Amino acid sequence: MRDDITSIPISEVFEPKEGCPVCRLRDMLEERSVTYITGAAMMEPDVRIETNKKGFCRHHYGQMLENSKQLTIALILQSHLAQIVKDGVANVPVGKKAKQHKKDTCFVCEKLERNMEHIVANVCILWEKEKEFRNLYSEQPFICLNHCRDLIAASDKISKKNRKEFQKVTEKLTVDHLVELAGDLKHFCDMFDYRSNGEEEWGNSKDSVERTVHFLTTREVDD
Ligand SMILES: [Zn+2]
Ligand SMILES: [Zn+2]
Repeated sequence: MRDDITSIPISEVFEPKEGCPVCRLRDMLEERSVTYITGAAMMEPDVRIETNKKGFCRHHYGQMLENSKQLTIALILQSHLAQIVKDGVANVPVGKKAKQHKKDTCFVCEKLERNMEHIVANVCILWEKEKEFRNLYSEQPFICLNHCRDLIAASDKISKKNRKEFQKVTEKLTVDHLVELAGDLKHFCDMFDYRSNGEEEWGNSKDSVERTVHFLTTREVDD
């Protein structure tokens, strides 16, 4: 299961046409990683050695707490604390995301980052290979900002003759949504204007702040 990303059904995840499909791929991988870490990985000594050293970030501790028994988390925390004492509290573990002090290292974040790179590359390959997926891709409501950038960065997986087209479609999905959000935010602000006589409708603007933060960060505000 460890790095099992081949079983992620990319087309299926693109089917619902709700929000950013790459966020959904990420959520799926994330859910699998969290389930794995509090399940099968408990019995795998080499993984335990790594998680004992790295620990997790606040976000992923939160997900683990939501999804598993307190006892499981207590066991994970217990051996992590023991490791910190063993290494010396002043020694910060070295992780990809934790080059500076104070930043958390996180086993799940690092695993996700690695796997998302593959998944995003596979999206590009699928787009080039399958005409049907190409259509499904352009029918997405939008692609969030960070995932647009990831896709563009991975587009060197696509042959030169098709690459421009892929980049154009991807950027359009992001820019169109950005323009829509900007319009909703403007409407939201206008609703507070003293000149607005209170008769205007909120329309789509009511949750525009939350939706924009989601678009910019890939995460819901209260996630
Ligand atoms: Zn996204
Ligand atoms: Zn994390």
